[in-house]
Amino acid sequence: MPTLETCVFCHQDVPESSTEMTGHGIRCLPCSTKASLAVLEGKSRMGDHLNPTELDAVIVRCKHEMMSGVGTLILAGAAFVISSLLGFAILASGAGLIAHGYSTRRQALEAKKSFPSAQVVSR
Ligand SMILES: [Zn+2]
Repeated sequence: MPTLETCVFCHQDVPESSTEMTGHGIRCLPCSTKASLAVLEGKSRMGDHLNPTELDAVIVRCKHEMMSGVGTLILAGAAFVISSLLGFAILASGAGLIAHGYSTRRQALEAKKSFPSAQVVSR
């Protein structure tokens, strides 16, 4: 005679060989199958293995995880703004150097043409 166990989910007595252990106790094959099908439908099986206190801990831990995600997004946004501003500043510096160099060179070339024999006067 097979040993019978009571399923903690449906409370049926079933042979021990057709059971599995969950966080709440013995579960029969039909209840395990229902739980597997529920997973395929996208339902969570966390309640099969965790008690309400453990689920509360998961909920708090997930809240902290989400807050960390928000903080990371804020840091990413700040890094994006800072890097954009830094990139713009470097771009403006490069353009400024080109413009100043071009303008000064052009003035020097014109001055050289206008005053080819210019000399420094000293007393
Ligand atoms: Zn069952």
